[in-house]
Amino acid sequence: MWETLVAAGAREFTFGDSAPPALRSSYTFLPGDEKLSFLFCRRSTLELIMRRYAASLPGVDFVTEIFVNGIDTDEKDGALAVTSVRGVKDEKAVVWSADAYVDASGRTSQFPDWLRAAGAEIREEESPTGILYFTRHYRLRDGAAEPDRGIAQGAGDLGYIKYGVFAADNSHFSITLACPEIETNLRIALPRPEVFDRVCALMPGTARWTDPSRAEPVSKVFAMGALKNVWRHFVKDSMPVARNFFPIGDALIRSNPLYGRGGSMGAIEAFVLGDVCNAVSDPVARMVAYDRGVHEEIRPFFDAMARQDQHAIRRAEREQSGDGGSSLRGRLTKSFVEDAIGPASTCTSHRRPGRGAPM
Ligand SMILES: Cc1cc2nc3c(=O)[nH]c(=O)nc-3n(C[C@H](O)[C@H](O)[C@H](O)COP(=O)(O)OP(=O)(O)OC[C@H]3O[C@@H](n4cnc5c(N)ncnc54)[C@H](O)[C@@H]3O)c2cc1C
Repeated sequence: MWETLVAAGAREFTFGDSAPPALRSSYTFLPGDEKLSFLFCRRSTLELIMRRYAASLPGVDFVTEIFVNGIDTDEKDGALAVTSVRGVKDEKAVVWSADAYVDASGRTSQFPDWLRAAGAEIREEESPTGILYFTRHYRLRDGAAEPDRGIAQGAGDLGYIKYGVFAADNSHFSITLACPEIETNLRIALPRPEVFDRVCALMPGTARWTDPSRAEPVSKVFAMGALKNVWRHFVKDSMPVARNFFPIGDALIRSNPLYGRGGSMGAIEAFVLGDVCNAVSDPVARMVAYDRGVHEEIRPFFDAMARQDQHAIRRAEREQSGDGGSSLRGRLTKSFVEDAIGPASTCTSHRRPGRGAPM
């Protein structure tokens, strides 16, 4: 699949490629670095290639143009179990029965509501990301190259606005600007393409990319709000809230898109679930093992992201009230982050081997 993605234009951006200019010449590959690659690719390209790959596997059938609209459940000895899934295809009702049901229907999944209606208790942890997210897609002009990395950072946080440049496949890239929810003027202005491009032109990290002689926009500005960190709990008191049911991806855990980890987390969950299904056949033990595996692999990252969002929300409030650097402690903290940690992160590098896929 990786080779097919690369043949379709996706690009691997290795740990070595990401080294800042000052370190690039002294970088030497160490085993494990190959796990720290980015894949530069549009989501449409990624999903198309992954779908074709999945369809080529033995035992995989796609049933398309279908809408799932309910479940059937059974209760034995006080334990709930999903027994079938209902849907509509070609305006006809359809029912599927299986040994296991995987809910991959994303952030608006209706399964939690259906399960709750059947008596399940699903706890939801939720915290705000505090941001609104604006993205515009661009294409490099014929013959134009991407700007050199490292001269100005491709991602940054100015407090009242954050930016990120996301390189993709086949000369495409996108730029995301995120502003705190409390920045009312910015949130009204940023969806306007001319404002979005003007803001990009004012920041060195984005200006080199959107320079009209280098690239042209190929989309409108997409705005996204109501972004939350969410973790749904489908195991209670060491028992699954419903047997035969396995949520995955955004249906299980959601995080701030700024960190770009939703896809990685879904992939990790899929591998954990696959391993658990191969190793464990008892439906209760399966869900408990899946839940434990997901906690081990993802919880530390989820907690760190939620903490970072809380910190960013407080910082945005201070910036807006003009209190960002008024106290000595505030000024020292700001200076420590911006003048010490920021530059240090571009001039030194430390590898810390970890388990699982790169995040
Ligand atoms: C603005 C934004 C930017 C992001 N950027 C990144 C990024 O750069 N990198 C990254 O890794 N992640 C990113 N994410 C997160 C990423 O998009 C999600 O984590 C990922 O798409 C979750 O995949 P999923 O398969 O769980 O759900 P989804 O991608 O939402 O897919 C769910 C699918 O289920 C279908 N479906 C839903 N209900 C039904 C139903 N009743 N019947 C039939 N089908 C149904 C939907 O049509 C959809 O096709 C971003 C998210 C947002 C909001």
